[in-house]
Amino acid sequence: MNTEPMDCRDLVELVTAYLEGALDPETRARFDLHLLECDGCENYLQQFHVTLENLGRIRDEDVEPAFRRRLMEAFRDWR
Ligand SMILES: [Zn+2]
Repeated sequence: MNTEPMDCRDLVELVTAYLEGALDPETRARFDLHLLECDGCENYLQQFHVTLENLGRIRDEDVEPAFRRRLMEAFRDWR
């Protein structure tokens, strides 16, 4: 069982699942732990949340282009 906080790239990849409540409890705990320790990701999640509230739903293709570009840059490093 992995109880280490995840890194920033993991968090970026999981943020949609997190907001949908789709993470398993262990992963969600690691996600929350990272947020406590990382102001950058806390701000990032906040921005994501604001975006979603404006949209009223979660669909990747609806994420605003500038924000989507930031996500893709993060993904590119991760793989
Ligand atoms: Zn982080």
